[in-house]
Amino acid sequence: MFGSHLSIAGSMCNALTEADALGLETVQVFTKNQQQWNVKPLDPAIAREWVAGLEARGWADRVVSHASYLINLASVQDDLWAKSIDLMTVEIERCEALGIPFLVHHPGSFVGSTLERGIDRIASAYAVLMKRTAGGTTVLCLEGTAGAGSQIGGPFEHLASLRAAILQRTGLPHRVGFCLDTCHLHAAGHDMSTREAAEATLTAFDSACGIQHVKVLHVNDSKGKLGSHLDRHEHIGEGWVGGGAKLHAGEGTFSAAALKRSGFAAVMNHPHFRGIPKILETPKGVNEKGVSFDTVNLRRLRGLVAKAPGSGGTRPVPATGRLRNLPVQ
Ligand SMILES: [Zn+2]
Ligand SMILES: [Zn+2]
Repeated sequence: MFGSHLSIAGSMCNALTEADALGLETVQVFTKNQQQWNVKPLDPAIAREWVAGLEARGWADRVVSHASYLINLASVQDDLWAKSIDLMTVEIERCEALGIPFLVHHPGSFVGSTLERGIDRIASAYAVLMKRTAGGTTVLCLEGTAGAGSQIGGPFEHLASLRAAILQRTGLPHRVGFCLDTCHLHAAGHDMSTREAAEATLTAFDSACGIQHVKVLHVNDSKGKLGSHLDRHEHIGEGWVGGGAKLHAGEGTFSAAALKRSGFAAVMNHPHFRGIPKILETPKGVNEKGVSFDTVNLRRLRGLVAKAPGSGGTRPVPATGRLRNLPVQ
């Protein structure tokens, strides 16, 4: 099921309406201004409208929230760590109130300390979070990162150790999953540039972490090369994952044939990924024909999905979507 990160400007439900206009099957949102520590309480009327909107679309099992980038659960600075736990608590509570099953967050950064200490801080933070939100059902999804500097979550061993440490502290396996991002994988040094390489990468992930724990995918092409640790998202088929390396260097044009041989073909046809939310976080805006980039990127991805024998084909995609510019990391 395909989705995109959409803006909640105006009202939460605007993201649902825009998702409809784009022909999406799910959506990812920030449930509040992601750049602020201070959070206004959720308006109960807006929450009711949102929940009704999810029910009307049958999306209660698949919508995704992305936590604020301010949060660093790995911090060894006590004040930042405590603030991060407080804000993460709010993130979880909002997901519970809004019926959002998946909350994606970046593991954190151990700046000024060690990886082991950073992982221990995150596990300790989870112990507090799980106590504060006891009985909740939101699945917290640790996102794989591009692995720059002291960022945790580039190597698969980080993610595996982290989930194990969290489970040891909380005993709640059903509340801890993963989110994989195709751009981050490649930038972190896991080759996603060809179908074969990506299949091998996913097999390695499965051995280290268990692919069944991946609850959400972020499908983004990568401006950065393999192992560049650069977290910059590119349109599908125009970066180093989707066979668009030359295009990115200013040569040639988008090639559907190159995209078909790329890592996206492996991701789109992996049996575990069929039934999970696949979210675009690619740049917004419109192309030279006035077609929204989300529509363009979705068409490219949907074109990679091998049709099951006897199936009637894929859902039609509207030619244009309503436009909105929002900052994309
Ligand atoms: Zn992502
Ligand atoms: Zn990213």
